[in-house]
Amino acid sequence: MLIDGHGRTVNYLRVSVTERCNFRCQYCMPEKPFSWVPKENLLSFDELFLFMKVAIDEGVSKIRITGGEPLLREDLDQFIKMIHDYKPDIDLALTTNAYLLPQTAQRLKDAGLKRLNISLDSLQPAIAHKIAQKDVLTQVLKGIDKALEVGLGVKINMVPMKGINDNEILDIIDYCQTRHIKVRFIEYMENHHANQSIEGMHGKEILAKVKERYTIKALGREGASPSFNYLLDNGYEFGLIDPHKHDFCENCNRIRLTAEGNLIPCLYFDEAMSIASAVKEGDIQGAANVLAQVLKDKPKENRWSSFDPNESDVSQRAFYETGG
Ligand code: SAM
Ligand code: SF4
Repeated sequence: MLIDGHGRTVNYLRVSVTERCNFRCQYCMPEKPFSWVPKENLLSFDELFLFMKVAIDEGVSKIRITGGEPLLREDLDQFIKMIHDYKPDIDLALTTNAYLLPQTAQRLKDAGLKRLNISLDSLQPAIAHKIAQKDVLTQVLKGIDKALEVGLGVKINMVPMKGINDNEILDIIDYCQTRHIKVRFIEYMENHHANQSIEGMHGKEILAKVKERYTIKALGREGASPSFNYLLDNGYEFGLIDPHKHDFCENCNRIRLTAEGNLIPCLYFDEAMSIASAVKEGDIQGAANVLAQVLKDKPKENRWSSFDPNESDVSQRAFYETGG
């Protein structure tokens, strides 16, 4: 079992397989970065997998593949199959913008993938275009339909932003309820790479929009999930991911691995340790030592609740690098 320096059990590893993306979401990667990580610095699937086996053997039971846009990485289904074949009962999921799902969903399912989280910030073509800076909606909706058709579990992620998509919260609930899928509203997390004119919505503002139509009942957090669940009077359940709330980090169970091998204990801070040289040399003990150190150093909590764009110590790393 993996326990961090604050006594929390860590059993969840998020793995970013690429920082590249085919969207330019305003809250994440509004412009193409000045330079991408050189291809030769990216860990191969075998190298990433060597570390993942160490983490699984020590107690990781949930793995999420993310990015950038993970479906841009060639042969992702083969990587998923490697993980699934090693531990078929692992809770294996993928976060994607869904653009490439129409042609990949079946292969992902066949490789052993169980669940997808899909970003859907708007149901209006022009607004979706404005957020992603590309005409994406038709293809994204096709991707969601395809994922459901092949039997993948689907959850939707929406980042509500004032003056952009804040009037679509109820529409997204309708869309998800009709398809029997769960939506999780994610508070916009301030970061240096986003379009700085974006104003996110705090959890209570998101809930106020929902209350315009429904009575809601707070259900609480689901184990170590970052999502706080709510039940509508019509029986539909949705989640709110609210990192600005003081109790958000109490049960944090996750660490993150970037595509070039940086192991990150907390999204908010810059601290990270590299597993790259250990896995390139096949040094299993070396990789386990880095994992132990990162767990020991994992911060107690983030500081989004007191974010100050001028003074903030928020990480310089982009969400598309850490995988969100
Ligand atoms: N490209 C994939 C996607 O968009 O789903 C996976 C990577 S993306 C970085 C993972 C998640 O992070 C997405 O749900 C996205 O909405 C979320 N995200 C990115 N930037 C964010 C921000 N500044 N605040 C809150 N959520 C953010
Ligand atoms: Fe790409 Fe996902 Fe970031 Fe949007 S949120 S730019 S889809 S990595």
